[in-house]
Amino acid sequence: MSFAAETKKELTMVPTPACCRLAELSGIISLNARLWNSETHRILDIETENVAIARRIYTQFREEFAIRPEVVVRKKMRLKKNRVYAVRIFSPPDVWLERLGWHQDPQTLLWMPGISKFTKECCRRSFLRGIFLAAGSINDPGSNSYHLELSTVDEEQAQAVRRRMNQYGLHARLIARKRNYVVYLKEGERIVEFLSLIGAHQALLKFEDVRILKGMRNQVNRLVNCETANMNKTIGAAVRQLEVIRVIENRMGLQQLSDRLREAAEIRLRHPEANLQELCEHMGNTVSKSGLNHRFHKLEEIAKKLQGPSTSMGPENG
Ligand SMILES: [Zn+2]
Repeated sequence: MSFAAETKKELTMVPTPACCRLAELSGIISLNARLWNSETHRILDIETENVAIARRIYTQFREEFAIRPEVVVRKKMRLKKNRVYAVRIFSPPDVWLERLGWHQDPQTLLWMPGISKFTKECCRRSFLRGIFLAAGSINDPGSNSYHLELSTVDEEQAQAVRRRMNQYGLHARLIARKRNYVVYLKEGERIVEFLSLIGAHQALLKFEDVRILKGMRNQVNRLVNCETANMNKTIGAAVRQLEVIRVIENRMGLQQLSDRLREAAEIRLRHPEANLQELCEHMGNTVSKSGLNHRFHKLEEIAKKLQGPSTSMGPENG
């Protein structure tokens, strides 16, 4: 089961006090319900591909309005595996629709889904849970990027959902994608907050586990990269120092150097792969790292002088 499906399954089992039932239902039907007229009835259809959500909608309607909705199952034409469940309510009275946050357009007399105003904190959260159940999706936390989204065809609805989320400081953003408006969260921390708000505590823990693991892995990678970089730096410096010493040896001999410089050259020749710190240790810590580094700079200057300005010209020298 995908992480999104797991999260939704968990959400369909969140216990709801009576006040929150309506709020959650309102969330569910505000984004993906269809009100239409057959020859004989007005029908409210709420579709989902998730059987647990269908069951939830069915139960919540039964509890809230004391009815038994019909459940229609059909197979998607293209993807034969996927079933679509429609929870169907025949002839919902206007007053039900109003309670669910819908309103009648005074001109067209059409009923439109709206974002109802629940004032109690528990109900506001339940409303968001409903929205997520109906139109939400979340990436597996182990995938490349964190992503949670709510998608709807109606821009105004999307704006309203975004405002609702941002009342909790979630900084949700909105983009138009194909025919949909998508409200989304990208930061792991905000996604965790949202999961907590809507009551997906198991999903939240799993998300956090993966996030912490990922964070640790990144830190280890950073350390390894850093160490590799340092190692490369050490090797680069050692190679350069050995070249310098070879030049001096060939052109004037190491015995011509001052004691301190000769000592530095000899210790490097003896330990070609050591870093500065290790060289100091080999010298019994009689010199500091910066002191030794300074000696190597001096050696480099001498080598440069010995090579003269025309060494790079090659043939003219010979
Ligand atoms: Zn409530």
